[in-house]
Amino acid sequence: MNYQSILEEIYEEIQPEMSKGKVADYIPALASVEKEQFAMSVTLADGVQYSVGEASKRFSIQSISKVFTFSLALKIYSKELYKRVGVEPSGNPFNSLVQLEYENGIPRNPFINAGALVVTDALVSHYGDEYTTLEAILSFVRRLTGEPGICFDAGVARSEMDHGDRNLALAHLMKSFGNYENSVKATVKTYFKQCAIEMSTEELSRAFLYLAFGGKDPISGEEFVSSSKAKRINAVMLTCGHYDASGEFAFHVGLPGKSGVGGGIAAVVPGEMSIAVWSPGLNRYGNSHAGTIALELFTDKTGRSIF
Ligand code: GLN
Repeated sequence: MNYQSILEEIYEEIQPEMSKGKVADYIPALASVEKEQFAMSVTLADGVQYSVGEASKRFSIQSISKVFTFSLALKIYSKELYKRVGVEPSGNPFNSLVQLEYENGIPRNPFINAGALVVTDALVSHYGDEYTTLEAILSFVRRLTGEPGICFDAGVARSEMDHGDRNLALAHLMKSFGNYENSVKATVKTYFKQCAIEMSTEELSRAFLYLAFGGKDPISGEEFVSSSKAKRINAVMLTCGHYDASGEFAFHVGLPGKSGVGGGIAAVVPGEMSIAVWSPGLNRYGNSHAGTIALELFTDKTGRSIF
């Protein structure tokens, strides 16, 4: 299959979509990102990459980071983690507080904000403090990509903290139910730094290869999570990776994937490849508008979907 020419076709077809959607202006540091940008990269088992658009330009990965922290926490805590966070779709926006009150401070899944906050809190308990935790997260991402220069944008993290009342509220609510172990302020700060990690689509698609190959990097042979855990991470990405639009994403794209409000989406075709796409204009669910359409075009044109 000629992936390069398929990506180029998609790039052409996606042009009218790039001006649609809205950048994530609830994070002031992201409000100034130019909307009409697009990049898409595919990485195959042997590391060969195909890309179109601004594929080496780094952007804020935001909630895609939740896949990395969930992987790390599952490795450390295994089934114990599920006492603190579930694996059911929430059917609610990513930053909703409503369900959390009804369900006694146990978030529905690790990919909504409440769930990701619990996961970061669990990592802080394990690593001892927020600095070692952030180092562990960064070093995980650097090992996945082989890119030691990957870091977070301190300005974006600060901007989120300055407007972080909702995430702080989620963490405080969980603490009131006894489902939060460390300082709310320190862990929420760590969560914002993990969200502010910057990666390009080339780096993101490379990073996700372990999830396309049962938890093991097919190039280096390094196992990042066991195959049973990789199966579960992919299942949660499929059912919860796009919040209250996860059903729609499964319907249109048909791949396990995770989005972020920076406009990125990373997805995997199990046993074959990982894909990353970026376009900052978001749909009303907070997922990249053009990015979602590009992935739908990709699975339609290649027939590569899990269904
Ligand atoms: N940092 C963002 C937040 O907490 C992440 C949300 C997202 O990417 N959906 O609001």
